[in-house]
Amino acid sequence: MPLFDHPDFDDHEQVVFCSDAASGLRAIIAVHDTALGPALGGCRMWPYASDEEALRDALRLSRGMTYKSALAGLPLGGGKSVIIGNPRTDKSEALLRAMGRHVERLGGRYIVAEDSGTGVPDIKTMALETAHVSGVVEKATAGGGTRSGDPSPSTAYGVFVGLRAAVLHRLHRTDLEGLTVAIQGVGSVGGHLARYLAEAGARLWVADIDEAQARRVADRVGATPVPADAILDLEVDVFAPCALGAVLNDATIPRLTCPVVAGAANNQLAEARHGQALADRGILYAPDYVINAGGVIDVYHERAGYDHGRVMTHIERIADTLTEIFARADMDRKPTAAVADRMARQRVGRSR
Ligand code: NAD
Repeated sequence: MPLFDHPDFDDHEQVVFCSDAASGLRAIIAVHDTALGPALGGCRMWPYASDEEALRDALRLSRGMTYKSALAGLPLGGGKSVIIGNPRTDKSEALLRAMGRHVERLGGRYIVAEDSGTGVPDIKTMALETAHVSGVVEKATAGGGTRSGDPSPSTAYGVFVGLRAAVLHRLHRTDLEGLTVAIQGVGSVGGHLARYLAEAGARLWVADIDEAQARRVADRVGATPVPADAILDLEVDVFAPCALGAVLNDATIPRLTCPVVAGAANNQLAEARHGQALADRGILYAPDYVINAGGVIDVYHERAGYDHGRVMTHIERIADTLTEIFARADMDRKPTAAVADRMARQRVGRSR
């Protein structure tokens, strides 16, 4: 398996292959860039079909974190870790503690948080072995209560304000009353996003491969549930991918009739050229790592001293960043994703 010549290597500072025979841990920690600060990124647990697939995911996701934190104005670098295994059947305290020890050995260059397949309890278990964790502290909410360290509600709020900015730019609408939105995947982020949009008066269609989950969310927010394979074909104003990566590809882009794509999923473009393919069809794409930065903003503030109002204000700046990206993309006749990448590289480069 090539590493230094890997197509996604992109000059990673450090890639650590971690194992622990006693617990069966096999993991990769990828530290892409620490020019702006320590590399903060989630730990994904997934039954990857091969080590190569796990490496590719780690490399792509960690570079995304460098760009995400740079454009979110955070003093953080980019990193990500992946544990090879089924989160339902292969997780154990020993395995998570072994992962925590590997994080600890990096001495703070990498800070671990939750991602697909890991949750707050898992990161708390890693925290028994390392101080370099985030996404674990209970946080105050606007209503005066508290919520768990899970950053998903903040991610959803960022997607909501980013979606609003995209609608303003592309459809010249300041309100969301009657706006039609199709949400693919209504798990942690998609579920919260559905609530924000429903409260703003949008008309929603929701799909999830877990059909019971789609029905639950639909009942809660007054949306229409649709089969997972039908969500891409709806004639709506906005398609909000909140499930998988690589959802925007040669097969799916021709099916879209919406003028805006704005959702939470990481790595939505199967390949960089799909940014151009969307632009060619007149579809405004909100670059994924810009619009879904609410979560990393949330976990950063957890380490810096959490203040709900300050966090919300910081998350709202996602709308300004997107508006700048949309304007530059129009001016330079470039896909929004390419413009975002260029801006992120410039910010990281300036800090060196
Ligand atoms: P989640 O696992 O809670 O929810 C994902 C949902 O998508 C699940 O309900 C799943 O059943 C559904 N799903 C999977 N494949 C599907 C398909 N083909 N069609 C329809 N539904 C499908 O995950 P989440 O935390 O809500 O994250 C959603 C996406 O947002 C992921 O791509 C994640 O990487 C990204 N993201 C999440 C956060 C966060 O704070 N949780 C932050 C940034 C980015």
